[in-house]
Amino acid sequence: MVAVEQALEKSGANIADYSKAPDKSTVQATGRIEKKADVVVIGAGGAGLAAAVSAHQNGAKVLVLEKMPMVGGNTIISGAAYNAVDPKRQSAQGIEDSIEKHYTQTYEGGDRLGKTEMIRTLVEKAYPALEWLESMGMKFKNEIFTVLGSLWPRSHKPEKPLGTGYIETYMNYIEQHGSDIEVMLRTKATELIVENGRVVGVMAENAEGTVTANANNGVIIATGGFGANINARNYYNNTWLELTDIKTTNRPGTTGDGMWMAEKIGANLIGMEQIQLLPMGDPETGSLSGNIEQGVENRIFVNKDGNRFVDEGARRDVMTKALFAQKDSFMWVILDKHSYPTVDTKNNFDETIDRLVEEGRAFKADTLEDLAKQIGVDPANLVKSVETFNKAVEKKIGDPFGRTLFAEKIDTAPFYAGARVPTVHHTMGGIGINKKAQVLDRKGNIIPGLFAAGEATGGIHGSNRLGGNAIPDTVVFGKIAGESAAKAE
Ligand code: ADP
Repeated sequence: MVAVEQALEKSGANIADYSKAPDKSTVQATGRIEKKADVVVIGAGGAGLAAAVSAHQNGAKVLVLEKMPMVGGNTIISGAAYNAVDPKRQSAQGIEDSIEKHYTQTYEGGDRLGKTEMIRTLVEKAYPALEWLESMGMKFKNEIFTVLGSLWPRSHKPEKPLGTGYIETYMNYIEQHGSDIEVMLRTKATELIVENGRVVGVMAENAEGTVTANANNGVIIATGGFGANINARNYYNNTWLELTDIKTTNRPGTTGDGMWMAEKIGANLIGMEQIQLLPMGDPETGSLSGNIEQGVENRIFVNKDGNRFVDEGARRDVMTKALFAQKDSFMWVILDKHSYPTVDTKNNFDETIDRLVEEGRAFKADTLEDLAKQIGVDPANLVKSVETFNKAVEKKIGDPFGRTLFAEKIDTAPFYAGARVPTVHHTMGGIGINKKAQVLDRKGNIIPGLFAAGEATGGIHGSNRLGGNAIPDTVVFGKIAGESAAKAE
């Protein structure tokens, strides 16, 4: 069993729930399968399933093609943080926020390269889209947090572990409307069918043969990014020294297929060189699992010498670049009991700290000196790093690295450490769309019949996506794409 499935099973999720899709295909003697729907969606991750539900809510019969043996994509294994300005939950915690602030942080945080109308749509619709999920039964915790690189406390956490809450919500809806929405697993889309300048369907392949999926109204590309495609990464990368040997948080299906299909028929790909790395990969697998941080405020990073090296509340690209400059591109996340008030407190990946310690993936000690010895860093340096940080927590200003996001001091045993390395996480570039999720060609014209959403698209996040902005991107634009495609003439 691959690591992803194991992680999901450990979190209590039943893999079988994500792997069932009644096969209604009519197999013909020739191995040619003909399908017809109003809307055909490629990819059953967060954006694709949001699009499928939304297209159905707008009156369409929907066919979803998914190349993997289960639905969920990277969304299901993500940390699942959802940024939205939420006056009710945020004000209950005394957090000030505004749509304008979310907009500015997203725009500036991507070096002003994101399209402003797209960012506007994202930040304005993030909360209504969260309410849409809630209306379908999804539950979010009331506590708002600051996910890594989100720059502000506006991240929501689903009640269910990882990204399972989103996928379950969509799949429950799809099961309830089974006669109108079909999901074909192990079916890989290969090409878009174009007639007279309009996209009218998708060619796909599965074990039974060739699938021709005809779309009365439109096709939605929701195939995710290309973080697991080393060739494409290297072809486009101009930011990082090398990306061949860097592991990824992504599932193997994240190869950018939809981008190449769209490009082939004239779509404009934008920002392809913008590849996001996180400083938060598991040293063995590159995955996010085993990440002991619980939000930004209460933890620091130290290198192999036990010294801090960056503002740990900074942008993801800034933190990862700083990590690459450390010995072996390796760091320890250091935190204390404030992050794990009880031994059964779980991280975002549904792991308890004690289990991580038992598995040797985290270290625990009653003193910082002992922790330093266990992880092999200089005890005096680690103690000094924590002391400097604690002084900054007290004063809120004057942190040597310019950090501004603080809550508690690191002063209460037990103390914990977890190892982390750089990992490829998200590809900001992709298919250019407008705010109706219509795909644009290289001259900026709409390609009739073609829509896209989620990580397959580019132009929203600029050079650096804020942590917690990807999931609302999938929900907001998945929902819009579904509606636009269902209504397309
Ligand atoms: P997003 O967050 O944008 O929804 P995900 O990674 O969650 O992206 O989901 C993308 C989904 O698309 C994955 O389940 C992936 O297996 C699927 N996919 C990628 N390429 C193809 C393809 N050629 N045909 C069908 N499904 C695909």
